[in-house]
Amino acid sequence: MLQVNDISKNFGDFKAINDLSFEVKVGDVMGFLGPNGAGKTTSMRVITGYLKSDKGSVVINNKNIDEDPIFTKSMIGYLPEGVPLYLDLSPYLYLDYVCQVREIKNPKTAIKKAISDLQLEEVKDVPIETLSKGFKRRVGIAQALIHNPKLLILDEPTDGLDPLQKFEVRKLITKLSKTKAIIISTHILDEVPEVCNKCLIINNGEKVFEGTPTQLKKKVGKTLDEKFRKLVK
Ligand code: ADP
Ligand code: MG
Repeated sequence: MLQVNDISKNFGDFKAINDLSFEVKVGDVMGFLGPNGAGKTTSMRVITGYLKSDKGSVVINNKNIDEDPIFTKSMIGYLPEGVPLYLDLSPYLYLDYVCQVREIKNPKTAIKKAISDLQLEEVKDVPIETLSKGFKRRVGIAQALIHNPKLLILDEPTDGLDPLQKFEVRKLITKLSKTKAIIISTHILDEVPEVCNKCLIINNGEKVFEGTPTQLKKKVGKTLDEKFRKLVK
């Protein structure tokens, strides 16, 4: 579904990503891990076509994103870091706007499904700015899912949520994973094995580990946090 081939991205002299490659298939949930500043958000911005890489290529459903950006973007659902939303719109009107931008044929049906899947019924008509962090996150995930994308890219989807909200997001990811390829970034290691079948750890823009959560557990240290520290030290 997604092939990332040797991508590099510099900001001036600073190498934010250096020769990063990986692959994600339908059915995969890849935990994209690394400490703050490792290059996770930058990589996701390159994959979604928001930033252009200096080197390498991104291929989605066998199409290079530079050669067919409209088609490849139609395959992607993206929850950007920090969940930018139009705060003066209600979730309903915001999702209606997203449907127009994405030229969704049956917007009413798509909005109804997204509102139901993300349990937004009780807040669908109030301004987004009045919502709690958990509800705002759900609106962000709803807009990422509304066009039923094959590739879902979630940048820190559980960051700042309470334990119950985190549980709900992980449950949703597990449910979605059967029919999609999913990448979730996080700097919190404990979240990973629960929902992921693959892990990729980056540090200073470079891959330092790729494998299953079980392989990660075997590699170093007793706890996942110890492993993480060893791999990124
Ligand atoms: P992560 O998401 O893993 O925390 P980021 O991808 O946000 O990391 O950032 C990786 C590095 O690139 C950081 O050192 C950050 O300061 C730098 N960086 C990110 N975006 C820019 C930018 N637009 N201009 C300059 N430096 C940037
Ligand atoms: Mg980030």
